Amino acid sequence: MKNKAEPSTVELPQWDFWGLILSGVCLVHCLLTPLALVILPALVPHWLQAEGHGHSLFFLLLLPIAAFAMFSGFRRHHRWAPIVWLGLGVAVVAFATFVLDGKPEYALTIVGSLLLLRGHYLNRRWCRSC
Ligand SMILES: [Zn+2]
Repeated sequence: MKNKAEPSTVELPQWDFWGLILSGVCLVHCLLTPLALVILPALVPHWLQAEGHGHSLFFLLLLPIAAFAMFSGFRRHHRWAPIVWLGLGVAVVAFATFVLDGKPEYALTIVGSLLLLRGHYLNRRWCRSC
């Protein structure tokens, strides 16, 4: 009998998937770029060396993804924890991107990316279980 539906993975909002990918990419970027700048500065593209460029774009992408993930996740599981993690992550990345420069920017963006990863992970897990 096939009429019993599988756990609704088809209807799972994809915002958290893209949020996890994006935050993971920025985490790797923030870990490797300062290292590459010290070891092999010639290999780091010029636009990436310009302060804030990479993270401004990252922030423009992460903001709507986090907002849609918060909204669609809360509608499904009614838990506040992902909203708190994602909200903190967005705030930390915004502060790092638009207020700080250089190494402090990278360091704080790593913290923000970890907060975002945690928020998207919880959101996705709880969306699956409801
Ligand atoms: Zn980054």
